[in-house]
Amino acid sequence: MTKFSDLNLNPKVLKAIDEAGYENPTPIQAGAIPAALDGRDVLGIAQTGTGKTASFTLPLITQLARGRARARMPRSLVLCPTRELAAQVAENFDTYAKHVKLTKALLIGGVSFKEQDTLIDKGVDVLIATPGRLLDHFERGKLILNDVKVMVVDEADRMLDMGFIPDIERIFGLTPFTRQTLFFSATMAPEIERITNTFLSNPERIEVARQATASETIDQGVVMFKGSRKDREASEKRKVLRGLIDAEGEKLTNAIIFCNRKTDVDIVAKSLKKYKYDAAPIHGDLDQSQRTRTLDGFRNGELRILVASDVAARGLDVPSVSHVFNFDVPGHPEDYVHRIGRTGRAGREGKAITICVPRDEKQFDAVEKLIQKEINRLDSPVKSSKSAETDTPVAEDKPKPTRSRSSRSKSEPKTEAAAETVTETKAETPREDTSSKSRSSSRSSSSRSRTSSRDDRGGNKVVGLGDHTPSFIGLSFEERMAS
Ligand code: AMP
Repeated sequence: MTKFSDLNLNPKVLKAIDEAGYENPTPIQAGAIPAALDGRDVLGIAQTGTGKTASFTLPLITQLARGRARARMPRSLVLCPTRELAAQVAENFDTYAKHVKLTKALLIGGVSFKEQDTLIDKGVDVLIATPGRLLDHFERGKLILNDVKVMVVDEADRMLDMGFIPDIERIFGLTPFTRQTLFFSATMAPEIERITNTFLSNPERIEVARQATASETIDQGVVMFKGSRKDREASEKRKVLRGLIDAEGEKLTNAIIFCNRKTDVDIVAKSLKKYKYDAAPIHGDLDQSQRTRTLDGFRNGELRILVASDVAARGLDVPSVSHVFNFDVPGHPEDYVHRIGRTGRAGREGKAITICVPRDEKQFDAVEKLIQKEINRLDSPVKSSKSAETDTPVAEDKPKPTRSRSSRSKSEPKTEAAAETVTETKAETPREDTSSKSRSSSRSSSSRSRTSSRDDRGGNKVVGLGDHTPSFIGLSFEERMAS
């Protein structure tokens, strides 16, 4: 087996690796580091969790250990699709370069240009950036890319998803033709293939796992769930999620819940918080300081459940996530592999559970086809749609007879989030599951008694409807509103 000491890395880098506690290089490191140190272009096909960040950071530091940067002319460039990923690469860089004197700057949105300009003006060895922010600095004339000797593109497939490929092509064009390129992608979509054919020169291609391979240490399951009614599906699905979380008990030390849409990230996080779960959302629309705070909290174990969008979770490196839940089946099957790859890292056990509603079944088939594996069907922790309807929590959801249609539409919020909140209070409170039947019967008996007392007084007595007079008809208008 290859050892780090066989790889010709700078002794100070080896010391930092030793201090990080790494014993042996991972396969992507064993493949990429020698080629990168030979000055060759590298095409690494690897997903997060494989050690790919160190596979470009370690040779980069070794190469940069000699020489100095000139003002506004960075010597190397690392491009990342998201701020979080860029920040994480910067963190890795700090860890591995701690015994080497090198400078770096992080160019990401949400940080003031002034601070970043000051660093660049002094000269930096490594510039870690998101493509848009890098081009902003370039266009402001603050940055010269003529001295870039090594350019790293990380998570190119995500760049493609986020529409950054034209920016990447432009940045390639702004750097010297003689630069060395280290290019990483979890998958090789045709567009990525085209870019690598255009900008990489005879690269060493290292593929560490098939794009569809999920770690064997991840226990995968799916709950095929059908809501009792279309308009109840969202809230019932959240109930399923809570049931799944509860069923894991103590085994669930921390979890990431993925949703396809940012609005759902917010709704699910809000709903979980309401049910006293320690949860917080993260997605691209939240401001940078909030995202950083949430991620830090999750990393250091203060936050138990992170509800995330795919893009936001990209930069997240938490070595031990016990559970991943897919609240939605991802739109791209490759994202399933990325998502569940957040757990079961570095040989640890992990569990990944997906909730699949009928309209997502096609997408789920695509996932199984991609990973070439049938995922275990799990029982839903919530009774099936039919019984759910008769089983009170959902029955509670029915409009109360005391509220007319018009008063409902006026008083209930129209946004999805707000509408869900209303539904949740009525239909989802766990304690209601067992007691709502008795409560609803006691409620109707109390209204009956109020009606009959009115009848006794001869007040709003209603005649002509036989024995089946609904109790609310006997109430005055004020009483109806009050109940
Ligand atoms: P990455 O794929 O770069 O996101 O890395 C995943 C995780 O593996 C990070 O927490 C790294 O700190 C860790 N790691 C990287 N290289 C090694 C190694 N050679 N041995 C053990 N852990 C490693």
